[in-house]
Amino acid sequence: MTSQTMYYIILAILVVQFVFDQWMEWLNKTRWQANLPAELEDIYDAEKYSKQHEYRKANYGFGVLSDVFSFVVMIVFLMAGGFALVNGWVMNWSDNSIVQSLLFFAVIGFGSSIIGIPFSIYGTFVIEERFGFNKTTPKTFVLDIFKSMLVTALIGGPLLAVIMWIYSVAGLYFWLYAWMVSSVFMIFMTMFYTSLILPLFNKQKPLEDGELRDALEAFSKKAGFKLDNIFVMDGSKRSTKANAFFSGLGAKKRIVLYDTLINDLQTDEIVAVLAHEVGHYKLKHTLWGTLTGVFQTGVILFVFGLVVGSPLLSQALGVEEPNFHIGMLAFGLLYSPVSFVTGIIMSVVSRKNEYAADAYAAGFQLGDHLISGLKTISVNALSNLTPHPLYVFFHYSHPPLLERIKAIRNLTSNH
Ligand SMILES: [Zn+2]
Repeated sequence: MTSQTMYYIILAILVVQFVFDQWMEWLNKTRWQANLPAELEDIYDAEKYSKQHEYRKANYGFGVLSDVFSFVVMIVFLMAGGFALVNGWVMNWSDNSIVQSLLFFAVIGFGSSIIGIPFSIYGTFVIEERFGFNKTTPKTFVLDIFKSMLVTALIGGPLLAVIMWIYSVAGLYFWLYAWMVSSVFMIFMTMFYTSLILPLFNKQKPLEDGELRDALEAFSKKAGFKLDNIFVMDGSKRSTKANAFFSGLGAKKRIVLYDTLINDLQTDEIVAVLAHEVGHYKLKHTLWGTLTGVFQTGVILFVFGLVVGSPLLSQALGVEEPNFHIGMLAFGLLYSPVSFVTGIIMSVVSRKNEYAADAYAAGFQLGDHLISGLKTISVNALSNLTPHPLYVFFHYSHPPLLERIKAIRNLTSNH
């Protein structure tokens, strides 16, 4: 194979991916219904339902525009030899290969973040604002950008530097040592994300005394989950949309309830949502997710180790002498069809886990409360009630509302 062929393969992957994504979005759009599903007639009225329709339309148009823009930028950058150009700069800035690679990713990462900012501004301050979701102030918005860049640089930079150093000294067993380092890193991040990173962006507080705390405590006792591990987060700092999640491993496990969830839902419904999150913990979903991630990283690093130094990859991007960062970038582009497939598998597993966590909550006779809670969350967020089944298959980490309700009803009626 020549590097020219490799170049065309990379180009073809980008084009096929773009066309496929647009086809999916279009397919999903064909399922928009003018009529409200009967299941939701009790909490949706015609006016709110037409607002949901408007929200879908606004997001669809904006999504197409932003996808087309990033696709065109990527293709032009690739065809104009942009990666080789940036590679040339960083070669002049430093003689150290690790510094060169870090600079390369800094430039590419910074550039792509900057390009995304206008779209993010429009999405937050125009679309979300128009539909009454936005709570983000311009100050929070700007601080978020700086903080995420800083976190990425301070965590990603050293990790990348260590992996490149291993690459320069380890030879054949590079992938094995790199795997060990990244596994420790991944497990550490899973454990400490909510206690180390999340506080940079949001405040988390223990539950305040009162009716809700008593109700959650009663459930926690029954389920065997420590109340100390339940926190309330100021999600309302950015959006009115409600949410809750379980995260962490072992002693660092934590359930985070958004203050918006506590605002919008009745006490019984919040208990049911908590039960769902405890279900994720009891059924060890985070643990399995982390182990799967560790295994997947091992496979990726093994293949990566075999090809990163290949001149075929670097020459496909217009760089004569192979180096770590160009090899890594080309590998990333070539690997995306594989990650597309692994992404589908992970979505399938994730949706299965959601049904299982719902069933766990239903096991405490909380099925009906969970249903009404999920309905409120979904109606308030103007969620898509009728996604295309194929779109769900490829993209949804959670089953669509109506399918979740059906599954919970089936469980409840079997008792
Ligand atoms: Zn869940």
